[in-house]
Amino acid sequence: MLKEIRALVHHGRQAIKSLRTQPVSPLFRGKPVISGDLTREEIADLSMLCPVKAIDEKTGSIDLGRCVFCRECEFMKPDKIRFTSDYRIATNNRQALVIKPGSSEPVRFDESLLRKEIREMFHGSLKLRQVSAGGDNSCEMELAASGNVNFDLGRFGIEFVASPRHADGIVITGPVSENMAEALRLTWEAVPEPKIIILAGTDAISGGIFAESPAIDRSFIENHHIDLYVPGNPCHPLTFINGLMDMLGID
Ligand code: SF4
Repeated sequence: MLKEIRALVHHGRQAIKSLRTQPVSPLFRGKPVISGDLTREEIADLSMLCPVKAIDEKTGSIDLGRCVFCRECEFMKPDKIRFTSDYRIATNNRQALVIKPGSSEPVRFDESLLRKEIREMFHGSLKLRQVSAGGDNSCEMELAASGNVNFDLGRFGIEFVASPRHADGIVITGPVSENMAEALRLTWEAVPEPKIIILAGTDAISGGIFAESPAIDRSFIENHHIDLYVPGNPCHPLTFINGLMDMLGID
């Protein structure tokens, strides 16, 4: 017993105290800041360069739902584009993921789009079933990390469960390959009402680098209401957890 107490004292508190303000490595790529004085030629060059058409060819805005955070645009125009370490980029508003040149607005959850029953039902307890629909295991690993001793997602009563019948919603990763489309639909149907859908990672939000592939089937995502978009390639645990906190009304 003494040995265990000694180990506890030695390890100290391991859970991150403030998940809202925890600093991350400067290497992390979060919300970009885009200069407001991009010229038409610069926008055209950047748009051509982007491998996933995340940069709008007319406005120069960056769509975080498409961006794979490769930083090629930042390398090309370091004085005009800078990826910050702001990880609070999850939202329920797809349009809020489009970062405009000259804008310093943070990406935030849109309360007006929130379904009332979500907070009423799931504020203190939310069980999620993860569906890897053609994912590459990167977002899946980050989601698993959300429950570790550091991020400690369980402190809010949120956890992943093995069966969709025990879940309140699904978290989709991957671009949804054709082979997974039916499994995704069946999983969704097995979740009892009211239920929520979360898209984790660029692949799930837009198809990512597979967006043009004939091997994906996006019909499920196109035909259902999405409750939370969690950008990132892969998404960071802090992005995921902050998005859930916003959705559930946790300070
Ligand atoms: S960081 Fe994003 S916006 Fe920039 S080139 Fe890569 S994918 Fe495109």
